Amino acid sequence: MLEDLPAVRGVAVLRHCRRRITPGRVTGFVAERNGSIVGCVMARFNEGEKRFFMIESRLFASFNARESTETLPQLCMLLLTNQQNSWPQLIDGYAALKTVRVRDVRCSGYSVFLQFNPQRIVSSSAEVGPDSIRRRKCFLCLENLPAEQKGVLYKNEFLLLCNPAPILDRHYTIAHVRHVPQQIDGFVRTFLELAKDLSLSFTVFYNGPKCGASAPDHMHFQAGPTGAIPIEMESGIESRRQVWKTLDDVAVYSLNGLGRQVIVLEGEGVDDVESVVRRLIATMKSVIGIPEEPMLNALCSYANGSWRLIVFPRRRHRPKVYFKEGNDKVLISPASVDLGGLVVTPVEKDFNTVDAPMIEAIFSEVSLEKNRVDRILDAL
Ligand SMILES: [Zn+2]
Repeated sequence: MLEDLPAVRGVAVLRHCRRRITPGRVTGFVAERNGSIVGCVMARFNEGEKRFFMIESRLFASFNARESTETLPQLCMLLLTNQQNSWPQLIDGYAALKTVRVRDVRCSGYSVFLQFNPQRIVSSSAEVGPDSIRRRKCFLCLENLPAEQKGVLYKNEFLLLCNPAPILDRHYTIAHVRHVPQQIDGFVRTFLELAKDLSLSFTVFYNGPKCGASAPDHMHFQAGPTGAIPIEMESGIESRRQVWKTLDDVAVYSLNGLGRQVIVLEGEGVDDVESVVRRLIATMKSVIGIPEEPMLNALCSYANGSWRLIVFPRRRHRPKVYFKEGNDKVLISPASVDLGGLVVTPVEKDFNTVDAPMIEAIFSEVSLEKNRVDRILDAL
């Protein structure tokens, strides 16, 4: 069929190409205008051109704060509506979200929500060791996304996508357009800018490569509705706050009585907040005594001219009960949302049996010890 179509010449026309097909080993691009095929190109493209077309083929919209007429939250909502009408896996995912069960678990001095969400089995039990990662196709790479999946291009670097297995009503994955490793270093600014561009509708999450990211080899954030995670409200309660210091006009405090260690940074200047986040990571490395990124999860939001970054310093990825056999196994694999107080389990038995002492033990095991967190905050 390809050979029957007139060739399309010139980049100006190629920019209208929408559909990529690969018959055998030759790559072709079908140009469509108003839904009709007007031509095709078959060629060998270099890496940059391939990426351009790959992004083009996934594009629902593009966002740039200065030029876009719609806000990023508006584009997110339009994307979700579009994908809920055209992508069966997402329709199923949101139908399943309507059937999740939630119960309140009252721990000592705080409470969490436990969510029974069977569709999270893939994420909660993801093998994230180097061998497993090497063997599998990366599910965040553009070429491996489901055919129907589209996204909002963010500053030409990230693609904001609907998460097909949502934990939250309106749950997004924000994946780098290239297969680059998950690490906060180099992306702190993007984390902050995303939170501002998504305010006041969404909060942005980051999971470290060794403590919750199901794709540790592909840089990504997530976003969910602001206020859906209990820690967002709890971090605003004065009586929980222990103020440590102010650095470059950024307030640094920890939260008490939550059964896990929580560091909060608040500030109005993007350069100041970025520099204190970098300093925090460097100090964590030095106190823990490691060269690589310290294990951490983080939530970032922006309101009333100020950023709030909530950081959970970690010492383990998964709790001991995760590795038990048979009936003793508890399938809870904590990441930012769970440590934020919305603990997800894909197993009904665990939903029915997990109690306050179990949550307290899990939080205590995966969280960095208090004395080390105190040393970090002292040294900051
Ligand atoms: Zn990838």
